[in-house]
Amino acid sequence: MPAVRTVRSYCRTCLAACGVLIDLEGDRIVRVKGDPDHPLSRGYTCPKGRAMGELQQHPERLDDPMLRRDGKLVGVDWNEMMEELTGKCAAIREQHGPAAVGLYLGTGGGYDSLGLFVLRSMQRALPMPSTYSAMTIDTPCLPLVSSLMSGSMLPNRCSISKTCDSR
Ligand code: SF4
Repeated sequence: MPAVRTVRSYCRTCLAACGVLIDLEGDRIVRVKGDPDHPLSRGYTCPKGRAMGELQQHPERLDDPMLRRDGKLVGVDWNEMMEELTGKCAAIREQHGPAAVGLYLGTGGGYDSLGLFVLRSMQRALPMPSTYSAMTIDTPCLPLVSSLMSGSMLPNRCSISKTCDSR
């Protein structure tokens, strides 16, 4: 059994980005705890962050694309998946117009700087006028009020960090 080593990192599950200390056996996560020296989260983690190892080792973890064929999900390669999605999106746009296909950005999008540029380029090229995110679904008031009060939606990050402060 490989020796356990501890690495310092941060949780990517939500924008609070809590600092974590992760015990690893090889690449396998065996324990996650809050990093007491992190300047913002100061040792805090929520259950989602501490469940990183369960996510990593879950038997149904999705590592490759899947498409539904005759009612069943089957693994496909990325080219096949992209071809099928391209065809479906084109058909929807042709029938219902450009606004019928929108862009959704989840938290992972915020950690993928190259992916964001690619998506924005695609959005301009098509064009694709509608953008949605976790905020438009469950907290649209946070960026809206922040924008109205300060001219920027960014200060609402402070409220997220403050939430994490309630250990
Ligand atoms: S609040 Fe929870 S999910 Fe969000 S970054 Fe911290 S540990 Fe991760």
